[in-house]
Amino acid sequence: MPYDVLVIGSGASGLAAAVSAERAGASVALAAKGSLQSCNSAKAQGGIQAAFGEDDSPEIHAQDVWASSHETADRRLVEILTSEAPSAIHWLEDVGVEFTRDNGGYRLARCGGATRKRLLQVGDRTGHAITKALRAAVASSATTTHTNAPLSELVPTEHGWRARVGDHELEAATVVLAAGGRCYREAEERGELTTNHPGATGEVTQIALDLGAEARDLDALQYHPNGGAWPETMQGYSIPETTRAYGAVLLNADGEEFTDSLGPRDAVSQAIVDEVAKGKGVETPDGRPAVYLDTTRISEGDANISLPYMLRRYRGGGIDPLREPLLTYPVLHYQNGGLVIDEHGETTLEGLFACGEIAGGTHGRNRMMGNSLLECTVFGRRAGKAAAEKAKA
Ligand SMILES: Cc1cc2nc3c(=O)[nH]c(=O)nc-3n(C[C@H](O)[C@H](O)[C@H](O)COP(=O)(O)OP(=O)(O)OC[C@H]3O[C@@H](n4cnc5c(N)ncnc54)[C@H](O)[C@@H]3O)c2cc1C
Repeated sequence: MPYDVLVIGSGASGLAAAVSAERAGASVALAAKGSLQSCNSAKAQGGIQAAFGEDDSPEIHAQDVWASSHETADRRLVEILTSEAPSAIHWLEDVGVEFTRDNGGYRLARCGGATRKRLLQVGDRTGHAITKALRAAVASSATTTHTNAPLSELVPTEHGWRARVGDHELEAATVVLAAGGRCYREAEERGELTTNHPGATGEVTQIALDLGAEARDLDALQYHPNGGAWPETMQGYSIPETTRAYGAVLLNADGEEFTDSLGPRDAVSQAIVDEVAKGKGVETPDGRPAVYLDTTRISEGDANISLPYMLRRYRGGGIDPLREPLLTYPVLHYQNGGLVIDEHGETTLEGLFACGEIAGGTHGRNRMMGNSLLECTVFGRRAGKAAAEKAKA
């Protein structure tokens, strides 16, 4: 039986699209390569941006995105991203996400490249909380889910699309691609560490490109400035950027600050690489390059509220971040570019939508932290709704 909407991927963007399509009256199927939990979204820690501060506005948020992207983002998409951010947060609250609060309001942090405090958090497991709530919303809906069902073939038909997902052949009037980026595969090819989950291999982007969909900025991959460098168990872990928001600074071997620790991601990553190249870095016990992230400057109160998972992970590895600095080095993290979409998430192929990390334009060539979970919510909702409406039409 054909579905109205088929969603590929169970990260924040796919789940948001499925919920939104179903609420718009569509029959929905969702297929994921592994389990529903296996995705980058669930690993996201730091938080999600939205202009709630008294000195802030969606326009200032948009200006920060534009500047961080080095004026390469699609302004149309940026405006939607930032103007719909507050309502996206309330939508997430309606599905059950409880953001950390301070004195009644949201606890807001300033992240790299931002001129205002704008980052909402759920402790330091924001992505886990968001995907858990969205999975529950999907589970309580009529959406059919297929796990261990990788998309391997997508063919346009007279009435929409035929897709092979695992052993199943499904038909749907419209398809939403929400299969994330390719940094895991890219890191394996480069012999580097990555923060990504093993399913981030990019074959769905290739399927869309083979069908003739347009893409942009696919060469622009992002390094997270603070990959864990030591202990071994923390290599590839992304030390939340909120450590720097709450006072941690980057130091070289001589204990000197060498960069603005709250600069845009690409600038901070490059500064670390340059400092090490100048011979001012340190070495991990297994010979990897690193600099110090002085987390001892974070107050215990902030750490306990906003960094409990990070503390637990490091203390489990024998290092207390509140007593000694961490060793860190940039690590492959995010695919900035992707499939070209319009403001409803439709690609350049009719009836084929894309949202989340697989789509390009919203961040241009350099994403700010906290805007990806936001993009997944804002454009996941939009793509799901538009795909449902197009299917009905
Ligand atoms: C460690 C880490 C920390 C992060 N921290 C933050 C943060 O604090 N704030 C922020 O905004 N962003 C953060 N990000 C980035 C953000 O989490 C992701 O970019 C975003 O969640 C991607 O969501 P997505 O839905 O597009 O893709 P994903 O969440 O990666 O989901 C992709 C889905 O597609 C499925 N899939 C892949 N290929 C196929 C296929 N062939 N067939 C079927 N299904 C397929 C996968 O199995 C998965 O279900 C972080 C990322 C990482 C890795």
